[in-house]
Amino acid sequence: MTVSPAEVALSVTTLDELATCAQRCVACAELAATRTTVVVGRMPPGAEVLLIGEAPGAQEDVIGVPFVGKSGQLLDKLLAEVGMPRDRVAVANVLKCRPPGNRKPRRDEVDNCRPWLERQIDLLDPLVICTLGGTAAEWALGAGVRIAALRGARHTFGGRPLVATYHPSAAIRFGPNGAPLAALREDLALVARLAAERRRQTEERGVAADASEMRGIGERLASALRPGDLVVLSGELGAGKTTLAQGIGAGLGVRGHVTSPTFVIARVHPALSPDRPPLVHVDAYRLGSLEEVDDIDLDASVEASVTVVEWGEGKVENLTDDRLEVRIERAADTADPAARDARRVTVRGIGARWAGALPSL
Ligand code: SF4
Repeated sequence: MTVSPAEVALSVTTLDELATCAQRCVACAELAATRTTVVVGRMPPGAEVLLIGEAPGAQEDVIGVPFVGKSGQLLDKLLAEVGMPRDRVAVANVLKCRPPGNRKPRRDEVDNCRPWLERQIDLLDPLVICTLGGTAAEWALGAGVRIAALRGARHTFGGRPLVATYHPSAAIRFGPNGAPLAALREDLALVARLAAERRRQTEERGVAADASEMRGIGERLASALRPGDLVVLSGELGAGKTTLAQGIGAGLGVRGHVTSPTFVIARVHPALSPDRPPLVHVDAYRLGSLEEVDDIDLDASVEASVTVVEWGEGKVENLTDDRLEVRIERAADTADPAARDARRVTVRGIGARWAGALPSL
């Protein structure tokens, strides 16, 4: 089956699905005939930084992973120096197939492949993007741009901060005392700073000393919630997820006592006021996949409700483009009896809905 990147990329809803479809892509006839693998990219879930290079080289083409060999080793070293280990950084290329003889990608090939990478960015939703080399910089910022003029500064791509810097192969070519290596090192440090800055903007933290304070955090969260919002609660058994959901229910002013939904999977709490949305409280612990979550037959639509999902990590993220992720952890060593019930609550806003909209905890 012929796969058109422009049509298929928009229809996929997960990075895994995209990878499966891209593996079958033959939009560039010459590349499809000469490649060994389609190098889709590495996208660790939750990666905050996406690095974009030009195209797979000979080794990448065989192994199927971007940035291996000498360039990859240098990149790993520099990433570790700035506190961004490779396993927490996403990497992809402008082209997913190797041009024969390592020639430069042609314009039509770059255009063909663009929908795949654009959709990967949508689905990954990184905090910061960093382009490595001239081809990737032109892909993001337009034809004719020069890295020497762009590097060292913050640019923007699709509303996200973007840093354009040299490809590690240029740093290797100019040697350890060359300007590209120093620039690459500086620019990756800038990427790490921008990611930390954005993380602070999209994250709120609070501590609940007991159940009553946890309910208070839920009530404060509820003040920012509106119909269509999805809240994903995670934390070990007994962390306080249901207590926080009770606070959200109280803040929304819904009917019925919010209890653990363990035996019913999902429960709808209608709003007492016509101005407020109902609460849909879901326990996804025994649900295996997004399909099963979709199959739950509810009396309220997700669009008109606030949906709070316990144990939803890795299962419900694709229900909406935007969501609140709430993680509850023990705040202190349980050997201290006074702190035994204290919990740290971290709220992360994903997507445009939550840019600058997180309530203070
Ligand atoms: S380079 Fe991209 S668009 Fe071209 S065949 Fe490979 S995956 Fe498809």
